[in-house]
Amino acid sequence: MGKTTRYRFREYHVTTATDPMALPTFKALCVTSEERNCAASSGEMHAPEELTRWIAGHCAQTGHQSYEQTMRTVVRAEPGAWQ
Ligand SMILES: [Zn+2]
Repeated sequence: MGKTTRYRFREYHVTTATDPMALPTFKALCVTSEERNCAASSGEMHAPEELTRWIAGHCAQTGHQSYEQTMRTVVRAEPGAWQ
């Protein structure tokens, strides 16, 4: 189940939808500041639970509590004639 968005561009309308065949990718980066940023990275994961597990493990080891989380999805654009 993907997110669908419509946008009108000149004489076209374009529909974008998340590609159901492409798994979203989750990643966390530790941005806890001490002398320098930790910058430990979870690497790419395909489930948010895996990401949470990584964060929990890193937090347990280091006590670090600030993370930058990103989710990457693939979106397909379908152009159509203006109606
Ligand atoms: Zn850290």
